[in-house]
Amino acid sequence: MSDNHKYSGSLLDKSRRSLQVNCENCFGLCCVALSFAASADFAIDKDAGQPCPNLQSDFRCGVHKNLRQRGFRGCTVYDCFGAGQKVSQITFGGLDWRKAPETAKQMFEVFPIMRQLHELLWYLTEALTLKPAHSIHGELSSALDETERLTRLSPDSLVELDMTAHWADVNALLLQTSELVRAEVLRQQKGPGGRKKTYGRGADLIGANLRKADLKGANLRGAYLIAADLRGADLRGADLIGADFRDADLRGADLTESIFLTQAQLNAAKGDSNTNLPPSLTRPTHWSTLGA
Ligand code: SF4
Repeated sequence: MSDNHKYSGSLLDKSRRSLQVNCENCFGLCCVALSFAASADFAIDKDAGQPCPNLQSDFRCGVHKNLRQRGFRGCTVYDCFGAGQKVSQITFGGLDWRKAPETAKQMFEVFPIMRQLHELLWYLTEALTLKPAHSIHGELSSALDETERLTRLSPDSLVELDMTAHWADVNALLLQTSELVRAEVLRQQKGPGGRKKTYGRGADLIGANLRKADLKGANLRGAYLIAADLRGADLRGADLIGADFRDADLRGADLTESIFLTQAQLNAAKGDSNTNLPPSLTRPTHWSTLGA
């Protein structure tokens, strides 16, 4: 069956590429706009709007090569979905907050809003590639158009945006997508009426032993998988949106057809060369130094 939406595979690839971080075209926004609390992830406290002391005058990080060793693990996990370059180059037209300090406050307010919009673009772009969801591709395509339109609003309009309402609208579509995809996975696995694996939103699986678990088609939306043992687990077709993978052990796990996984989730987890990833994501560089 053909999909009745305007996004071809190459357009979706292009959309996805635009959601990849491009620090070269960003004014170091994540290093200024966000607040940090001193913890295992950040070596220092920093208020929102205050530049990190490691941020150089050219908006590059002075400790980029040694972030983990210097206590800035959180910086290696964070992913802005390309919101930094959009705010810097489109919303504020390439004029940075050092040259135009009068724009700084608003630029730093817009950045987290843009990040949420770009995160939704990431999920919607993926949803449009999922064949079991073809019956709602028209609605997904409209939601993608609308979200892209919102990213091009003026700074004044962006700070006034009702993100909660827009997020809820898009999330309802993503939930439908998830149900269609997981139903198909389970149908293939067990035939019609096959076993349902539902943990429910925010399932507490902290430190759980899920080694070699069959989690195909599981609903792990928002699950707390912090430090869970997922070595060798089969997560194909599982919905992983918002799941907390901090220090989860994904060595040898199969994530190839999992849905709504992000680079930040992978960056927060442990893995190795035997972890199978979805093609849109890259193997975190620090995985090779974890000493499996
Ligand atoms: S340590 Fe580097 S990457 Fe992290 S906030 Fe500071 S300048 Fe940015």
